[in-house]
Amino acid sequence: RLLLLLASSLLFNAAIAQNQQQQMKTFVDGLMKKMTLEEKLGQLNLLTSGEVVTGSAVSTGVESKIKAGQVGALLNMTKVDDIRKAQQIAVEQSRLKIPLLFGLDVVHGYKTTFPIPLALSCSWDMNMIERSARVAAIEASADGINWTFSPMVDIARDARWGRIAEGSGEDPYLGSQIAAAMVRGYQGNNFSENSNILACVKHFALYGAAEAGRDYNTTDMSRVRMYNEYFPPYKAAIDAGAATVMTSFNEVDGIPATGNKWLMTEVLRKQWGFSGFVVTDYTAINEMMAHGLGDLQTVSTLALKAGTDMDMVGEGFTGTIAKSLKEGKIDLNTINTACRRILEAKYKLGLFSDPYRNCKGDRKAEIYTPEKRMEARKAATESFVLLKNQQQVLPLKKQGSIALIGPLANSRVNMTGTWSVSAELTKHPSLLEALQTEVGNQVTINYAKGANLTADSMLEINSTMFGRSLNRDAHTAAQLQKEALEIAAKSDIIVAALGEASEMSGECASRTDIGIPDTQKELLAALVATGKPVVLVLFAGRPMTLGWENEHVPAILNVWFGGCEAGAAIADVLFGDVNPSGKLTTSFPQNVGQLPLYYSQKNTGRPLAGDDKWFTKFRSNYLDVSNDPLYPFGYGLSYTTFSYSDIQLSATQFKPGGSISATVTVTNTGKYDGVEVVQLYTRDMVGSIARPVKELKGFQRIALKAGESKQVTFTITENDLKFFNSELKYAAEPGEFKLFIGGNSRDVKETGFSLL
Ligand code: BGC
Repeated sequence: RLLLLLASSLLFNAAIAQNQQQQMKTFVDGLMKKMTLEEKLGQLNLLTSGEVVTGSAVSTGVESKIKAGQVGALLNMTKVDDIRKAQQIAVEQSRLKIPLLFGLDVVHGYKTTFPIPLALSCSWDMNMIERSARVAAIEASADGINWTFSPMVDIARDARWGRIAEGSGEDPYLGSQIAAAMVRGYQGNNFSENSNILACVKHFALYGAAEAGRDYNTTDMSRVRMYNEYFPPYKAAIDAGAATVMTSFNEVDGIPATGNKWLMTEVLRKQWGFSGFVVTDYTAINEMMAHGLGDLQTVSTLALKAGTDMDMVGEGFTGTIAKSLKEGKIDLNTINTACRRILEAKYKLGLFSDPYRNCKGDRKAEIYTPEKRMEARKAATESFVLLKNQQQVLPLKKQGSIALIGPLANSRVNMTGTWSVSAELTKHPSLLEALQTEVGNQVTINYAKGANLTADSMLEINSTMFGRSLNRDAHTAAQLQKEALEIAAKSDIIVAALGEASEMSGECASRTDIGIPDTQKELLAALVATGKPVVLVLFAGRPMTLGWENEHVPAILNVWFGGCEAGAAIADVLFGDVNPSGKLTTSFPQNVGQLPLYYSQKNTGRPLAGDDKWFTKFRSNYLDVSNDPLYPFGYGLSYTTFSYSDIQLSATQFKPGGSISATVTVTNTGKYDGVEVVQLYTRDMVGSIARPVKELKGFQRIALKAGESKQVTFTITENDLKFFNSELKYAAEPGEFKLFIGGNSRDVKETGFSLL
């Protein structure tokens, strides 16, 4: 009976869905019958707010274009009153009254800023990550935004690339879980709830593989690699229901993604069944001219025919497609299809029944609440990664005196990282201010800036452009350092807040030197030379090279850019109110010459050091540095320690359709309660194509009290062993596998099994 009930309820739901689908189709059909060609092309046009909001004039004549039905969506508006005004123009003054969509890069929170995505990924906490996206959606929608250009799911393995800060690191398995969690967080179950907004998975595809880590650069890779290593997070976001996709700037197989039919139609729609709409990245159509693909009409036509639906800012579609239609270079059907997809998204959001549903300005109380800020603070503590803690310098005691030194110690604008709402930048407390609030008069905090962030004028320009001056101190380096050493001398311990400024990572912020800038490194060396214990609190938007620091500084806590509550969260962890549990989602290289670097590499034909004598010279090594990372993928310390038992397998082999389980006992062997991220990796020993030496296949985040043990079990099925072979067929191949479990990708227990 239960089964019958279940079946009939499923049928009922399917019938409702079909009915809704039909209603939508009827509505959109009716609307499109009334639309002129110009109005259809207008729906494909995404502009900045122009003079609708004074001071934001990238697009021009926007108000009259909205009235004429030549605009489908606007981006980069952050004031609900402005959004309502623009919506009013669309639904009261245009002929067909079609409401606008409002998009914004709500990337790691809106007004309540969470840690940058790379930091969030280091929590390995899917519930928290989903919740961070939910909070962002609630707040952004309360300000009239109904579409976020997030999640960015580009796999990134080259730390020179500044946008590594915006993604979830190097691993396709973890990246896929995070992509899906974020889509669920933004979109909820359906759009009938006001707070659910459209997600936009970006940048499709391969943007993170930009050659030499230089932003916007060319990419080129085999399809086997695309399908196995770079595509999975995009696909996971689509499977989770992402309503929109953004193209990437780079070329794929020689054709810029925005005009790449194989990518946008064959892969995205035919193979993956995506039914939402595709928007270009910012002026990506126009940029195809610079790529060398032809004039604006040619590239616009190419993009639309490839399966791109909406043109961000470039006005190539509205400017040239009518001509292409007349000349027979494109058919009406292609235009209709794109227009329909955009109207359907608006319909699903409920904009036709209530165009003002998100811009009444009546939900302001939901933004930046104490509860949401508390969630951001907790998230930040989970995202920090303790890289080193010699002689248990950390946690600090709430007594005595601390010398807080460094250009990031008292810098509000550098707490939140890339993609933060600029009007909010000076609102959140600096580390100094937060520490003072947290410790009151229990601890004396002596502060000195100690050094400028950098002496590099390129970085100055970049930071100023994004509203965050580097705030260079007029004193000489020697004067700044002298002051720092004086306060260090009268303090028990030194906390050095150093690293990158916010705008040294993110879009258009690639670097060839990914170490702490020299101005600060010199300060750090002087502080270490005092012989006092030094804790390096490292601000970073990317994996950095920390060879010297790892050798000489007793404790390193990587805090990335932790969002609006970063200061308080750093205090929580420094004083041990929260035990750090973050684990790296990108390998940290020993030096920049090792890049790109990632754990799931493939073997070459040459044995590694220590193997066969004949090969001792002719190995795939560098002469000056080993192939190992400084800190491996999955690495991160805790104030406590964990031990792993040997792995118990339920069987040593299984058939397709079956499964085995692998169990370890993890014990907290230290003095503090803690959280451990237990990681499962496999290696396919023999395949029809070369296979990675390790691949993440599962993880569990577990809490263990001091002295406590827990059994952790993973189930492995045939699905976990599948990959795309050289014919791009997705299947598992029978044979031997290794299985590893541990607290990072390097230090693991090992066993093996076979797939029959
Ligand atoms: C970025 C996108 C972003 C868009 C809109 C582009 O420059 O590459 O990630 O969504 O601008 O702000």
